[in-house]
Amino acid sequence: MPTPALELPLPDPVTLSDAQQRGANCVWCAAPLANATAHDLGARPLDAHGVSVLWFPRCCRTCWKDRS
Ligand SMILES: [Zn+2]
Repeated sequence: MPTPALELPLPDPVTLSDAQQRGANCVWCAAPLANATAHDLGARPLDAHGVSVLWFPRCCRTCWKDRS
């Protein structure tokens, strides 16, 4: 059974670059992502300055394979 995306532990968003937080770059290795190759990790709640928002992390296929 592959691990469901929502249960994969992700890096703390505060440690990530803007591009990684936007889903433009892989959350793990920071590789630039193309829509065709990016793996959507699902919306995650994020507490930003006391306001609860959602972020939409994505990763590259290599990292996804390593972690699933
Ligand atoms: Zn990656």
